[in-house]
Amino acid sequence: MAGSLKDLPQIQSLLDRPTIARLAEFYSHAETVAALRITVGALRTDLLADASTSLPEFAGAAFAQSVADAIEAARTPSLRGVINATGIIIHTNLGRARLAPQAVRAMQMAGADATNLEYNLETGKRGSRHAHVENLICELTGAQAAVVVNNCAAAVLLSLMSTATGRTVVASRGELIEIGGSFRLPDVIAQSGAVLREVGATNKTRIGDYADAIDDTTAVLLKSHTSNFKIVGFTASPARTDLARLAKERDVILIEDLGSGVLIDLAPHGLVDEPVVADILKAGVDLVMFSGDKLLGGPQAGIIAGRRDIVAQLKSHPLMRALRVDKLSLAALEATLRLYRPPFDPMQEIPVLKMLSAPPETVELRARRLADAIKTHGLDDITVVETAAYVGGGSLPQQDLKSFAVKISVTGLSSDALAAAFRHSATPVIGRIERAHVLLDMRTVRDDEVPMIADAMARMPR
Ligand SMILES: *Cc1c(COP(=O)(O)O)cnc(C)c1O
Repeated sequence: MAGSLKDLPQIQSLLDRPTIARLAEFYSHAETVAALRITVGALRTDLLADASTSLPEFAGAAFAQSVADAIEAARTPSLRGVINATGIIIHTNLGRARLAPQAVRAMQMAGADATNLEYNLETGKRGSRHAHVENLICELTGAQAAVVVNNCAAAVLLSLMSTATGRTVVASRGELIEIGGSFRLPDVIAQSGAVLREVGATNKTRIGDYADAIDDTTAVLLKSHTSNFKIVGFTASPARTDLARLAKERDVILIEDLGSGVLIDLAPHGLVDEPVVADILKAGVDLVMFSGDKLLGGPQAGIIAGRRDIVAQLKSHPLMRALRVDKLSLAALEATLRLYRPPFDPMQEIPVLKMLSAPPETVELRARRLADAIKTHGLDDITVVETAAYVGGGSLPQQDLKSFAVKISVTGLSSDALAAAFRHSATPVIGRIERAHVLLDMRTVRDDEVPMIADAMARMPR
C-alpha cells in the first residue's frame, strides 16, 4: 500500500513499540535513535522521490530487523580488512604492502608497550628514534647514513628543503613525473622553496645539458625514477656515474627519487626496471629516497640514505619533527628490514616479495582450489583462466607476471551486481570485471583467504 509523509511515525512513538524498545535495551538508546533517524529518513527520501513508495509495517519484525541492521552497520569499523583479488600486488587503494607477521608483532609491541623510542638504554639518557634502523639501512644499502620520514613524498620534500631552498634544482624534462594522488615533482620542488631548472627534451637529455645548466645558484641535480611510464624509441639519458662525476666536479648534490626502491635484485623475477638501492649509491648518487610500503614490503615510510653530512643536515632540519616517522611504522620497518638479513630469506618472509616470486603453478593450484570450493547453481560459470598480474605501486605496467584467476558469472546477476555482492560480503572481496565476468586473481590472495572467498560465494544473493 502506498504511504504518505503523514504516515511516517515520530521517532518517540517507534521507541514505545515493544520490538524497538527491545532493540534499545539490547544495543543502546542512542544507537537505536540514530538508526531510527536513518531508517525513517531514508523512507522520507523515498516517498518524496516516489509517492507510490509503500511503507513497512512499523510494528512488525521486518522493520525491527532493518533497524537492527542499521545499528550493526554503524558499529562496523570504517577501515576494514578486505581480500585483494585484483592481481595488483602493491595496490595503493588497498593499503599497499601487507606486512610480514614479524612486522605486525613489532607494531603490536610498540603500540601496547612503552618503548625505548627515544631513550638510550646504555646511558639512561635521551636517545634518537633514528638510531633503531639507521645501521640496518646502511648495512643493506652500503650508505654512510640514513634517516626515515613519513613517506617518500616527505623524503623528497625534506631533502630539497634542506639542500636547495632559495637555489635551483636541475632536472631532466623526461623525469618530471606525476605519481598517483597528485604528487607532481615540479610542484614538490616549488613547495620546497627551490627553483626548478628543466633541461633536455622529453625523450633525450644529455650530460652536456646538465653541465650547461649548472651555475652559481645550482644546489642539486635531481634524478627521478620514471617508474610508472616508459618512453621508448629515440631516447637518451646520462649514466648515473656520469651525473655523479659532474655533480662532484661542480660541487652540487646529486639526489635520486627512486620511488619503489628495492634492496635486492628482482631481475630474476622479471622486474628488470627496478634498480637496487646499493647500486645507485655505488654509482655515486649522494642521496637516494624510496618508499617503505612498495617493493620493500614494509610499512608506510620514506627512507633516505646516502652521504653522512647531508643526512646529518636533514636530521636537524626544523621540519624534521613534522615529517618524522611514527613509532608503529618504525617498529614494523625495523622488523621488515631484519628479514633481509640472515637467517631469513626475504623472498619467502616478505609478503610482497613472496607474491611476486610465487611460481605460476602455485598460483594456478590456488585458483583450482577456489574453483573446486565454490558450489555452483544452475548456469553459474566458474572457470580457471590464465591472467596477467602486476606489481603496482608505480612499477612498470608492462612488467606483468603470469597469473591465474577464477572467472565467475552467476545466473541472474550482472557482473556489476556480482562484483558488488563480493564487495558487500562479510570480508569484502575485491576483484576486477572483464567481459561480463568477475575475475578473482589468485596471485594476490593468501591460501587462508581462499575459504573466505568460497564462503562469500555461498552466501551470494540469489
Ligand atoms: C611512489 C613514489 C613516490 C611517493 O612515495 P610515497 O611513499 O607514496 O610518498 C615518490 N616518487 C616516486 C618515483 C614514486 O614512485
